[in-house]
Amino acid sequence: MEGEARRMTGRKSTLSAPAARPRAASRTAKAALTPPPGKRSRQPKKAPVGAIISWPPDEDRVEEIFVRLSGVMPDPKTELDFVNPYTLVVAVALSAQATDVGVNKATKALFAVADTPQKMLALGEEGLIPLIASIGLYRTKAKNVIAAARMLVEKHGGEAPLNRADLQALPGVGRKTASVVLNELGIEPAIAVDTHVFRVSHRLGLANAATPDKVETQLHQVVPEAWLPKAHHWLILHGRYTCLAQRPKCGACVISDLCPSRASFMGV
Ligand code: SF4
Repeated sequence: MEGEARRMTGRKSTLSAPAARPRAASRTAKAALTPPPGKRSRQPKKAPVGAIISWPPDEDRVEEIFVRLSGVMPDPKTELDFVNPYTLVVAVALSAQATDVGVNKATKALFAVADTPQKMLALGEEGLIPLIASIGLYRTKAKNVIAAARMLVEKHGGEAPLNRADLQALPGVGRKTASVVLNELGIEPAIAVDTHVFRVSHRLGLANAATPDKVETQLHQVVPEAWLPKAHHWLILHGRYTCLAQRPKCGACVISDLCPSRASFMGV
């Protein structure tokens, strides 16, 4: 998990090293520690990701973080192209493990011929695959997009349902996709936790949980209500352009003096 923490947050862990093992364990003692074939050994639980910075964070510091992010990004929006709620759902579903730029390249041609569930269904999997073949996992995504289009036509009158339960019931649409859609359309102040949001939240001490779902819960507990509708965008864009995974641009960061991780990267 320590390695995982470092991968996700990009910061060298300050967790203390595990206690040294006795140097000269006897053969008998070693044998006693070795699990029988087929049984997994019981490893001690490691500290979860984010055990480095205390939580919850100071309220004034959190407020100031969002005041400043809103100052440099007053009207943040998704960078995915879409022309209606249905195409937003499709674009977000296609963006899993892919870049927004790559998805936009593919959807430009796709949405020109299929911007409704009815048209998508008529296009079919065979027609859809060549249009999205540049996107990772395109075969699975094509299957899901067509299955979702069928469900929308059969159950929702050919319209994208704008509530979480119905969205998440669509093939290929999970909690994160539904959150992005509902947040982007201003229906719910959801915070979808992707790799950028996860990393930035940890570095800023806004969350210290080990899973995206738990980080999402923590963010809802500490982000002031007034900032919630756009918090997802600010965190994702800050992570995408400034607080980069490998080499965060702390010197150009407008919240560097509010960031408990700055010293890890700048040494000050
Ligand atoms: S100072 Fe800014 S760029 Fe650097 S780790 Fe903190 S939030 Fe990220």
